[in-house]
Amino acid sequence: MPNNRQRIGAIYEEVVNRNPGEAEFHQAVKEVIETLEPVLRRYPHYAEHKIIERICEPERQIIFRVPWQDDKGEVHINRGFRVGFNSALGPYKGGLRFHPSVLIGTIKFLAFQQTFKNALTGLPIGSGKGGSDFDPKGKSDSEMMRFCQSFMTELYRHIGEMTDVPAGDIGVGAREVGYLFGQYKRITNRYESGVLTGKSPSWGGALVRKEATGYGTVFFTEAMLKARKMDLQGQTCVVSGSGNVALYAMQQLQILGAKVVACSDSSGVIYHKDGIHLDTIQRLKEVERKRIKEYADEHKDAQYMEGGNIWSIPCDVALPCATQNELDADAARTLVANGVIAVAEGANMPTTPDAVKVFHEAGIAFGPGKAANAGGVATSALEMQQNASRDAWSFEYTETRLREIMRNIHADCQRTAEEFGAPGNYAYGANIASFKRVADAMLAFGLI
Ligand code: GLU
Repeated sequence: MPNNRQRIGAIYEEVVNRNPGEAEFHQAVKEVIETLEPVLRRYPHYAEHKIIERICEPERQIIFRVPWQDDKGEVHINRGFRVGFNSALGPYKGGLRFHPSVLIGTIKFLAFQQTFKNALTGLPIGSGKGGSDFDPKGKSDSEMMRFCQSFMTELYRHIGEMTDVPAGDIGVGAREVGYLFGQYKRITNRYESGVLTGKSPSWGGALVRKEATGYGTVFFTEAMLKARKMDLQGQTCVVSGSGNVALYAMQQLQILGAKVVACSDSSGVIYHKDGIHLDTIQRLKEVERKRIKEYADEHKDAQYMEGGNIWSIPCDVALPCATQNELDADAARTLVANGVIAVAEGANMPTTPDAVKVFHEAGIAFGPGKAANAGGVATSALEMQQNASRDAWSFEYTETRLREIMRNIHADCQRTAEEFGAPGNYAYGANIASFKRVADAMLAFGLI
């Protein structure tokens, strides 16, 4: 009989062999299952029923062709994906990512992580993710519309408010969700509000959904600091990215009295020592859809560093909110040397495993994405609740619910980490607490 460490090693090997070339998926699986040894020790029936093996295999994976025509009439072929990873706790739930880097392994890593993230919210949502290798950069409104319509013309048969509920992620916001919903409604002859979340509040979307991932990451950071008898007031913060998550993380940091000095995009970094003017970033990104480089043209005392490393800027709080593996061990060592006290992941898996190790060894408060950025999908679940009851909640009420959810996730991770012998290690706590929730539901359903 293998011991639990050998058992987990063998499961990982099998995942790697079965999913060749999908490095990000391997990384995400390893990060979770290597924390589960104490769980198997305490609850041997999970091993007996092969729960870890089952949780690592997606329930379904769909890959499809997405043909579309650009404004000049030229035909393009992209690839569409939707992975339903786990439906033990509810319908598949998770965003759609449109980015040229998207491969099936990218979607699998995101959907796998979503399993644990969604379980942590305590709300009835399973996990999924989808997207395309389509690049939204530089596309006109009508090109976006035609692409979304073509994408939905295949996707519609796989989704539904009780089956699978997509939303946004990188490259997909309220505009794209609008085009997708319009095509779904047209094909199915149903106004099924709850089939997509992240909708505009003017036609069924939840208030606070747009802000939720960023706000939630900051509420989680606030809770980590509170556990250390600190707060955000006056802290110097660096937030990577300048998309939806970064934007609203910066906004909530400012509301709570922190000073945000830097943000970035894939071309470079803006450093504004006296504090970033959020209204400028918001206009550049949300209205004009421009690069952040232009910020420095408007604010002469700000610095734009083409290709710069945002993590070399000294700060108390660092929030990686751009994309996977953007913060490596060298960056982590620089942050630690510069006196960082807390790091929370607004993006999915932005911190490499070696960098996480650096933070843990240095005793830095580290909030893993599946806990720290769960506010987005949690608010999606609140949007589903409102759609199901044909109701619309106020901004204040929804924000209060979000804050409560983030505090509960923090408390759950903290308690579980302590209970399993790793006090202060939120990554451990998040993995174990969420794994148990999904595992118990899977066991209850028998072998399916
Ligand atoms: N894409 C977001 C995430 O990574 C949100 C998913 C959703 O709202 O369904 O959690």
